[in-house]
Amino acid sequence: MKAAVWHGYKDLRISEVPAPKAKPGHVVIKVAWAGICGTDRHEYTGPNFIPVTKPHRLTGKLAPLTIGHEFSGTISELGEGVTGWNVSDRVTANGTLCCGKCEMCLSGRYNVCEKLGFLGVNLDGAFADYVEVEAARLFTIPENVTLRQAIIAEPVACGIHSTRLLGDITDEDVVIVGPGIIGIGCFLAAKLAGAAKIMVAGVGEDRKALVESYGGSYIDVMKTDLKEAVAKWSDGKNAGVVYECVGSQRTLDSCISVMKPGAKLMVMGVFEKPPTFPMNDFQEGERRMYSSQAHLDEIGVALDYFSKGDINADELITREVTLDTLVVDGFEELIKNGPKHIKIAIKIND
Ligand SMILES: [Zn+2]
Ligand SMILES: [Zn+2]
Repeated sequence: MKAAVWHGYKDLRISEVPAPKAKPGHVVIKVAWAGICGTDRHEYTGPNFIPVTKPHRLTGKLAPLTIGHEFSGTISELGEGVTGWNVSDRVTANGTLCCGKCEMCLSGRYNVCEKLGFLGVNLDGAFADYVEVEAARLFTIPENVTLRQAIIAEPVACGIHSTRLLGDITDEDVVIVGPGIIGIGCFLAAKLAGAAKIMVAGVGEDRKALVESYGGSYIDVMKTDLKEAVAKWSDGKNAGVVYECVGSQRTLDSCISVMKPGAKLMVMGVFEKPPTFPMNDFQEGERRMYSSQAHLDEIGVALDYFSKGDINADELITREVTLDTLVVDGFEELIKNGPKHIKIAIKIND
């Protein structure tokens, strides 16, 4: 079968590899669509999480391996002992890999397993004709949701999971710094969780129309000072909830600068360098910081929202590529024109 195999930075090869066979408790899925995630982009440009020298603590895998964890498709093979699923079922899956034995796994929080791994990072992933996943991680795609739309469920699930961790945010004014797919996922989740007003901040105006169509405000931080804009927008009160969806010193500082006393900060960005933290400003006012790692059952929640029509997943796909055009039209395009794209979709099989 064809697969996108990661060998190193900027060395992603579209190769012929053996198709997977379903192990006990697992299924093989014929992949229809996949999505390029920020994580995949990090693997392409570095710094990478794919192990290159030391085998992964859970899977024992090393590069080269097939990347990709956002996907949809139909089950093509059932492993021994799999019940409740049939060949041809339309599915997507949670790419989290866990040990099932540690304290966090046993308490149901397998997304923070002590041996945590991820499909497409620590095990062969979904940018391929076929992918093998554990049956326990599958989600049925509702009949009125297309396989193309279903690839958006995973990034939206990250926003829903982080918003659940924040507890009650009803009637809070929310600021989201970073208008990529994770920021948009947080926007949709915060709106559905009953937030009052939501402002999204980003560089450039590519996301303005979309955010406004969702009923939010958008500001271009190249033109407008975030602190002043938030003060005006919130009648001087500042935000009760702030999501950091970029991962840089500058965006972290601006997030903290718009938090009212008692406000909550959710850190979603991946930091390439450890930031310094303005602890005294933060502490003054008992501000609280949260972090979030992937998701649990929230892919199912996202698919439900799509099915009910609360979220139009199609408008979040800004380009379609194939495995053959993935490197140039997908990854290189994201490096050149990143802010233009929300999600680049890969069409793999009909
Ligand atoms: Zn993802
Ligand atoms: Zn575990």
